[in-house]
Amino acid sequence: MSTSSAPALLRVALPVPLRREFDYLCTPPLPAPGCRVTVPFGARSLTALVLSHPSESEVALGKLKAITAQLDNSPLLAKAELKLLAWATQYYLHAPGEVYFQALPTLLRKGEAAAYRSSSYWYLLDEQATVPEQAIKQQQALTLLRKGPLTRGELQVRGISSAILQALAKKQLIEKREQIPEPKDWRHTKQLTTEEDKPHLTTEQALAVSLIQSAHGFSPFLLEGITGSGKTEVYLQVMEAVLKAGRQVLVLVPEIGLTPQTIARFQQRFNLPISTLHSAMNERERLDAWLSCRDGSTAIVIGTRSALLTPFARLGLIIIDEEHDTSFKQQEGFRYHARDLALLRAHQLDIPIVLGSATPSFESLHNAAQGKYQLLTLSQRPGTATVAEHLLLDSRRVQMHAGLSPQLIELLGQELTKGNQVMLFLNRRGYAPALLCHGCGWLADCERCDAHFTWHQSPSRLHCHHCDYQRPLPPSCPQCGQAQLIGTGLGTEQVEQALMGLFPQYGIIRIDRDNTRRKGSLAQHLEGIRNGQYQILIGTQMLAKGHHFPDVTLVAMLDADGALFASDFRATERFAQLYIQVAGRAGRASKPGQVVLQTHQPEHALLQDLANQGYQHFAHSALQERQAAQLPPFSFQALFRAQATNAKQVHTFLYELVQQLQPQLPATVLCLGPLSAQMERKAGQYRYQLLLQASNRRELAGACRLALAIIDSLVSARKVRWSLDIDPSELW
Ligand code: ADP
Ligand code: ZN
Ligand code: ZN
Repeated sequence: MSTSSAPALLRVALPVPLRREFDYLCTPPLPAPGCRVTVPFGARSLTALVLSHPSESEVALGKLKAITAQLDNSPLLAKAELKLLAWATQYYLHAPGEVYFQALPTLLRKGEAAAYRSSSYWYLLDEQATVPEQAIKQQQALTLLRKGPLTRGELQVRGISSAILQALAKKQLIEKREQIPEPKDWRHTKQLTTEEDKPHLTTEQALAVSLIQSAHGFSPFLLEGITGSGKTEVYLQVMEAVLKAGRQVLVLVPEIGLTPQTIARFQQRFNLPISTLHSAMNERERLDAWLSCRDGSTAIVIGTRSALLTPFARLGLIIIDEEHDTSFKQQEGFRYHARDLALLRAHQLDIPIVLGSATPSFESLHNAAQGKYQLLTLSQRPGTATVAEHLLLDSRRVQMHAGLSPQLIELLGQELTKGNQVMLFLNRRGYAPALLCHGCGWLADCERCDAHFTWHQSPSRLHCHHCDYQRPLPPSCPQCGQAQLIGTGLGTEQVEQALMGLFPQYGIIRIDRDNTRRKGSLAQHLEGIRNGQYQILIGTQMLAKGHHFPDVTLVAMLDADGALFASDFRATERFAQLYIQVAGRAGRASKPGQVVLQTHQPEHALLQDLANQGYQHFAHSALQERQAAQLPPFSFQALFRAQATNAKQVHTFLYELVQQLQPQLPATVLCLGPLSAQMERKAGQYRYQLLLQASNRRELAGACRLALAIIDSLVSARKVRWSLDIDPSELW
């Protein structure tokens, strides 16, 4: 044993893409696991996270370097949180540094202090202050401030603008003071919920709420409810009990689902501090929100994928809304699935977790069928809201007008005449997905990808949607010199133009990535839809998700054929989920709705199933097919991806890997490949992959470890960029 003053060992995670931990020397007292230190690494100085105090190191003591500084007095991550991340490192076989640092906001990764910034608080100067009756907003502000000082942000979310505050400050009724916020203790809030009327629950809702509330310890629930069936109301009521007991709630939502509307719904119900965590926040906002989860000042956290890795003081419930959404899977770097880690976290903390969706993932349905999750079903919409009627329109031999059949145009006209809104859905932005020379057949292809340029008209350009390369439209064909360039296929811009011609008397709005890039423009468009400025809505899936438009009575999917023949085995599941999402936009309020699907395959079993029997039925038979083919969730997969500008280098690497790996694999592990990616060349990179599959997770992990060891010894591995994806949610 060393004496207390002799340097001891620290094992740390470093933010480098290496699959190992690092040892350093440190003079006691040693920083606890979960604290940050600064260490020398090569010529650099890095922020590191302490993981443990090992008694010995693989590296000779004389070769170890000493840390240069201690950054924290108390751990940033608690023991349980470190354990979760350690497990994730093992499960995803990923570089520990990248895993642990994923749980820290950027400012902490950079070595900043784990402390709130000082903020400006508005104080009430005179308890008796009054303003004229007609100054309603000013009165509201005074009422709020009577309960205690608030920041501008806190006032803003309650509808008080800076102008109102300035006006009150001018009258010397309120004043701004700088201070560092104290951790808030909301646990003694007398009135947790606001005055908002809680609806009387339907029988199905009430059953779901009571089953979740009576759960003890770790209990996963799958809440399968059709769109508009009141899943959110179930969440709210279940949350109430947890919050009353003084524990925090984490609500995970898909990236696209974190709208002001979503947040407002929670704010309207609860009189408690709510934080959001998502990628659009700046670094400082993220750190403050992170701190307030960790010290317990916030009661409810609504966040996207990475919020799952945030430390919580007293987490009592996890809710994952739209649990099937693909944005819960991180597709680069540390490729984790937030839903899977959330289950682990709930298990570790011994708390309930609710996965909600109208279209649950096959993984979750399978788990429910096996009895691992308790299935709760909401099959009806509350009140008078009706479920939409589904219609398959046969596109064969029909003269289409910019992708619209005469029958669809007639249906649109009928709804518009009645004063309703209609929504058209096409998952392809731009004017046309390809530009072609009518004279010689030349196609405008991206030089960097195996893909056509998309032709955009506003603003005019050729744009590759795969590598983002853009260039001006050629004035004539570069091959034959003729000026007969025409678009082929259909994009949202083209449909928008056609609709303007067909229905000039109605307001039309297009919603896709092109016209929502500017901050706030999406919100502005949505507001225009809600206040009736637009009657015709056309968009990509951005429009399909999470928005409630009560006056939409007809929803049309213009082209359903693509998904039916895609090569990825998950394509039908994704299509079905999207279809149900889109369909859910019709007839949500008391107006009955229609869902129209244009297809050249009206007899296709999948479409028939979805339109006539619904998602559950579809999922049931699709799951049987997966089982017969031994595909996930009936087996497990891991995918090695590799890419380089030189195709031969990628081949060499993967062939060498297979050659050494194959003979060592048990017969139960399937090794497929090397296969080329569906788009072999993208942004100038040639891409190939190797798929491992097994019915047993342990055997699959064993095979991956073998492969990683081989890769470490391969010289060819250093010439390519490669990655490992455990439970990949898409092939390339
Ligand atoms: P989902 O999340 O399942 O799509 P929501 O929770 O958004 O459904 O509910 C749809 C609509 O029905 C909302 O306007 C909601 O306020 C309302 N609602 C939910 N539950 C009830 C109920 N028990 N009685 C009346 N209205 C309800
Ligand atoms: Zn030509
Ligand atoms: Zn490209």
